[in-house]
Amino acid sequence: MNNERTYQFSDNRESGKKAVFVAIRQNAPIARIDIAKQTGLSPATVTSITAEMITKGLIEEVTNPNQNAARRGRPRVDLQVRSDAHLVAGMKLTDKYATVVIVDFVGNRVAEFSNPSPAAFQPAEDTRDFLQETLLMALDDAGLTIKALSGVGIGLPGVIDTDTGLVRWSPTIMERDVPLQQMLHDVLGVAVFIENDANLVALAEQRFGLGTKARNFIVITIEQGVGMGIVIDGKIYRGTGGGGAELGHTKVHLDGALCRCGQRGCLEAYVGDYALLREASTTMGPLSGANPEQQMQLLMKEAQSGNQTALSIFQRAGRMFSMGLANVVNIFAPELIILSGERLQYDFLYDDDVIASMKQSIVQVAGPPPEVRVHKWGDRMWAMGAATYALEGVIDLELHG
Ligand SMILES: [Zn+2]
Repeated sequence: MNNERTYQFSDNRESGKKAVFVAIRQNAPIARIDIAKQTGLSPATVTSITAEMITKGLIEEVTNPNQNAARRGRPRVDLQVRSDAHLVAGMKLTDKYATVVIVDFVGNRVAEFSNPSPAAFQPAEDTRDFLQETLLMALDDAGLTIKALSGVGIGLPGVIDTDTGLVRWSPTIMERDVPLQQMLHDVLGVAVFIENDANLVALAEQRFGLGTKARNFIVITIEQGVGMGIVIDGKIYRGTGGGGAELGHTKVHLDGALCRCGQRGCLEAYVGDYALLREASTTMGPLSGANPEQQMQLLMKEAQSGNQTALSIFQRAGRMFSMGLANVVNIFAPELIILSGERLQYDFLYDDDVIASMKQSIVQVAGPPPEVRVHKWGDRMWAMGAATYALEGVIDLELHG
């Protein structure tokens, strides 16, 4: 058993409850005394919190068979989460499709489903309808109904205010300040929790991915845009009203290339698909390929087969990306940077040159440069982050009302 204190929660009982639950879910079966060590809460507090959770049917006691055989006397009693206590769904929305994963209360995957989006950029009501339709299809596919779910977590790109459930802005929705959480709750009739997708990847990395041991780490997601999830002192940093962490729109060039956001010189305007294709069409003429994805594949093939112009486009993007990474390191000094996302198949963004160039641009005083790790996980894992978010939201509702 690892007795390090993985989470630092404030001493108040409310956040303590969540800490206790997370410790049990991640380390089950676990004894009360080890929960106390992990969370930093007193054994008496742990005993009282776990008693409440047992009464509410969220966790259960199990006798540890090894301890039983090893010594005489009272058998050691461990705790574990009751997998059948609740079912939740996690969803990821992109401009191409929605992915759903349904998990039990432990986080075991029960079902998964994917549905292509009818349009990349939709009015809010169409987005709501698409999410509802996709969720109902996923449930139907699994032989379940909406009544089986206790909560739905949804991750989408953009600025999401988790306190109010408002989508301040998203590249997938036409309007601004959309009360998507409430709109979905009204049609689904279950608790809905929405969050920025990169933050959900950070949560997934923290709970069961590469970040379980790190207190300060950064997740950089590379998809259509460049997203970032920041974990400081074990907590996701959300900025005011869900803003911030817009790594894609940090400036890497004065009066530089035009970005989708309307400004100039943004990182995304150099490393985003559209930026690479724009440069390719300027320098190499029109690309064949029916859509941007196919065109990107073709451009990548050109570079791999030695086309110097194509290669230079990717190398330039890599240099710009290393500058963006160095800026992040100079500001946050994380112990770990996780590069995550489907776009990582384009390895120009994380090859050795990029990492070496990043290391040359960082101020190194306190210690070695951060470890950079690449995590190529698909949409299912993003949806797992959303499901984890929903699980923890349901726990909050169960324990705090
Ligand atoms: Zn921008």
